[in-house]
Amino acid sequence: MAPSIAIRGAAQLLRPPADGLPYLRHDRAAELTLAPGDLTLRAGAIAALADDGGDADVAIDARGCAVLPGFVDAHTHLPFADWRAREYEQKVTGVGYEQIAREGGGIRSSARAFARANDDAVLDQARALAAEMLAWGTTAFECKSGYGLSRAAELRALRLAAALGDAVPQQTVSTALLAHALPDGFDADGWLDVVAELVPEALAQSPGVRALDVYVESIAFTNDHLRRVGALAARHGLDLRCHVEQFATHRSVPVALELGARSVDHLACIDPADVAPLAAAECAAVLLPGAEFLGDEHVAPARALIDAGAIVVVATDANPGTSPVVALPIVLGLAVRRYGLTAREALLAATLNAAWTIGRSAELGSIEAGKRADLIVLDGPVEQLAYRFGHNPVAAVICGGELVHVRPDCAWRIVA
Ligand SMILES: [Zn+2]
Repeated sequence: MAPSIAIRGAAQLLRPPADGLPYLRHDRAAELTLAPGDLTLRAGAIAALADDGGDADVAIDARGCAVLPGFVDAHTHLPFADWRAREYEQKVTGVGYEQIAREGGGIRSSARAFARANDDAVLDQARALAAEMLAWGTTAFECKSGYGLSRAAELRALRLAAALGDAVPQQTVSTALLAHALPDGFDADGWLDVVAELVPEALAQSPGVRALDVYVESIAFTNDHLRRVGALAARHGLDLRCHVEQFATHRSVPVALELGARSVDHLACIDPADVAPLAAAECAAVLLPGAEFLGDEHVAPARALIDAGAIVVVATDANPGTSPVVALPIVLGLAVRRYGLTAREALLAATLNAAWTIGRSAELGSIEAGKRADLIVLDGPVEQLAYRFGHNPVAAVICGGELVHVRPDCAWRIVA
């Protein structure tokens, strides 16, 4: 049983404009409030937006601190095996993508590493990353398959994603990214035939899978394949998510909207004409500024999406190729600088709207009585989060009502 925790004297408590909102369109981000406040946590949930007595098992002195809902990382590629640092060196020194691919780099390189690593090795690496994410304030995250590139290996990836979820304090959800790169010996249509057979098998084995994902790009799959994956998602009651408009404009957004996608992710090259329809839809625009920055990609038109009222999300895209970054505060710092976001806009993109994207905003993503007690205490006001770029502002992390991380220099704030 989680202890009762009192959080006292916070300088800023991030609250939505109303309780029960599944998401908040980003043109309303200014309505988030940051007033001083206290919290009482009991039995793993937020019991009261006040200090409701003096008998808590643990008290946290939050004077001068911001208290936020834990960050939700709505787009990661955990679990994966090994890294691709050599490839990053090639990339930044001007070696072209095609040469890197010819030398066996890219997604296939991670697929080989995944095949070589045994289950324990994959899980050890993923658990270490999840611990790092926790220390940076991430209390829930999405996992994707996609480095299997064969039937058996994709099923294994989903099994390991579920095992990771069981092994870490965070809440996780799994996405089956079964159309990530083209496995050897298949053309794209042939592989999609396999995917159609694989989905029911994956769901029978890993009932925690809640979305299908597909990578639409000239080097991967097309809008027609997006349609096929969308139809599969609908048939099996899964959400559709998609990697679109990362390196070039394929006009995948209108197709995804037609299919009722839960999210369109990347969008660095979205056609300007597609911004307004996306902003009007019940579909998250998931932006990945870490991948944009490290890959020297185009910059997504976040400001236009926000001003038009889209459901905007910022996530790490944590993966061994394009974004080997797990720290949401760093990625939010990039988002604020490169997109021109206010502190509230940045926070909304990594809390309530991110929780909606993974289908969990009824329990996660905002500070409301009755929601799961996933909270973070920052060592200063929220305005410092992006400004002190590279600094980890997270002083303490509470997951499911348990105090799971305290930064050593902030230990004095905890009174047991
Ligand atoms: Zn991705």
